Amino acid sequence: CGIIGIVSLRESKKLAEMTVSALKRLEYRGYDSVGVASISSNGLEIRKAKGKVEEVVLQKKIEEMEGYVFLGHTRWATHGPPTDYNAHPHTDCNGNIAIVHNGTIKNYKELREELESLGHKFKSETDTEVIPHLIEEFMKRGMDPFQAFKSAIKSLEGSYAVLAVINGERRIFFAKKDNPLIIGLGEGQNFIASDIPAFLPYTKRILVIRDDELGFVTPETVYLEDKDGNVVNIKERIRIVDW
Ligand code: GLU
Repeated sequence: CGIIGIVSLRESKKLAEMTVSALKRLEYRGYDSVGVASISSNGLEIRKAKGKVEEVVLQKKIEEMEGYVFLGHTRWATHGPPTDYNAHPHTDCNGNIAIVHNGTIKNYKELREELESLGHKFKSETDTEVIPHLIEEFMKRGMDPFQAFKSAIKSLEGSYAVLAVINGERRIFFAKKDNPLIIGLGEGQNFIASDIPAFLPYTKRILVIRDDELGFVTPETVYLEDKDGNVVNIKERIRIVDW
């Protein structure tokens, strides 16, 4: 299981190739399914299936995807068997929010029941799918996207490295608890992944996210909050990888 996110000033197919090569460098972590989400001027698109990175990339023509925001995921199934529809990314009812997640959500059954009673329709058997529906629900109640993301994360019990994107927004929301998450700072584009090798060909400037931290990444900035909700000065946290 591994995740990668890229957010860039420019829209291009190059980002799709970078996402695929990052997924290949995360293969060592083990997985059964692969999926990618992109946001372009044409909207949010998801391509995913059960299988190896190489196979799914060819079958779904993932390298032809265009966009300025990309999410990639390799799944190690914990809730729901390895199938095309259980592969990540997962979405809300309208397909405007996409999520990739590593970890397990312990209270997903209660959350799913509550969301279903509010009219949310689920498309998978995963624990993960409650996250996009929670964000959708909080936005429907009037919260802005970041508030809605924060409220969704606060509702979760369990472990997560989670990335979320919203159609039309040039930023990637992130949160971490008990699963690794590292930001890579590039030029006009930023990265966020389960491990450094995912983005090492593109940047050596990194920021390691700590448990219970969350925030969002844009092409040129990182907004980070610690577990008490205080804004973190990221300059003090940036490290240079010298491998
Ligand atoms: N629990 C999630 C699932 O089964 C994520 C698994 C993972 O970490 O890849 O889909």
